[in-house]
Amino acid sequence: MSVIVQKYGGSSVATTEKIKKVAETVIKRQKKGHKMVVVVSAMGDTTDDLISLANGISKKPDKRELDALLSTGEMISSALLAMAIKDMGYEAISYTAYQIGMKTSGQYGKSLIEDLEVEKINKSLKEDKIVIIAGFQGINEIGDITTLGRGGSDTTAVAIAVKLDGICEIYTDVDGIYSTDPRKYSDAKKLKEIDYEEMLELASLGAQVMHSRSIELGQKYGVPIYVGLSCSEIEGTVIREVNNMNMESKPVTGLATSDEDIAVTIKGIEQNINILSNIFEVIGSRKINIDMISQTAPIDGKVNVSFTIPKDDTYECMSIIKQFTEEKNIFIDKDITKFSVVGIGMKTTSGVAAKMFKIFSDNNIDVKLITTSEIRITCAIKQEDKGKAINLIANKFNL
Ligand code: ASP
Ligand code: MG
Repeated sequence: MSVIVQKYGGSSVATTEKIKKVAETVIKRQKKGHKMVVVVSAMGDTTDDLISLANGISKKPDKRELDALLSTGEMISSALLAMAIKDMGYEAISYTAYQIGMKTSGQYGKSLIEDLEVEKINKSLKEDKIVIIAGFQGINEIGDITTLGRGGSDTTAVAIAVKLDGICEIYTDVDGIYSTDPRKYSDAKKLKEIDYEEMLELASLGAQVMHSRSIELGQKYGVPIYVGLSCSEIEGTVIREVNNMNMESKPVTGLATSDEDIAVTIKGIEQNINILSNIFEVIGSRKINIDMISQTAPIDGKVNVSFTIPKDDTYECMSIIKQFTEEKNIFIDKDITKFSVVGIGMKTTSGVAAKMFKIFSDNNIDVKLITTSEIRITCAIKQEDKGKAINLIANKFNL
């Protein structure tokens, strides 16, 4: 009999009414003959509220205690869901990370799952109980409670599905993965399936549907992940390995934009890889995420280098660069939108970039920076061109 591991996000368990609705949905599924494991997030904005509480106590809350505090959110929702199911006359049991030996390592606030014990879960499933597990939390090597990073319950669910050899379903407040944000492009199409790699690229570009590590975990162990609207029959999207490219497969699967970065240009630096690597090393050591690096060809031994960084890191980044060059050589461009298209079809289809640039040039859309990977093309364009670019490219590639 197959085990189904479902995860319900914060908005799906935001109220007691919604928790009851989830309970009904899970029971219905169990009645179809499945063993059910349910991972829950904290109710609604509970995690944000707990963080605010901590900030009210301290400007820099102790990390160990912050994890102890944040883990309580998922304990509340898991106990309530188990209670709701029992109240409806079915068997259920809630478990915290400690109770299922969910072992983590690494730092508080962003710990990694090492392993978990399935004995207790399997025993409860054998007794026909619906097993409810508090997501987002683990226990580290010294026995402290840790959390997996914001949105981490997805990763809890996939890890459990891997260990139980089960089916993984993530339920949230969107009804699947779209080719592009439907709020920005009303014709956006829902995808039936998307490859792990494409999903990871889209997630790194700001498509906040899922915790990235959950996708990596699914990919590593070959567990498909279904993403859909909670308590609904609407068909969602499956994230899996898509390798049977057929004649009608599209080279581009998704489009994403982000206004969260600025472009930095340093002019006239000595063409010396040491200087550049020093600058990037210091920026990297401050955990500032550099992207879209490009360099001009050397003229008289000097080059211009451009890259993007998150807006929020502007001040810190500037103070680092000023240690290496005079301020008059540093230029900041705040008016950029990162515009990306993603598709594993690009590995085998050529000319995607050419088509995109042609459309941009025909429509007077200036491209300031370009980077590519095997399955992604990203251009930095002016923010005012974003809407036009989305329409043109989504139309051209039938997204
Ligand atoms: N409750 C945690 C958060 O809000 C974990 C999760 O939702 O997956 O980040
Ligand atoms: Mg949450």
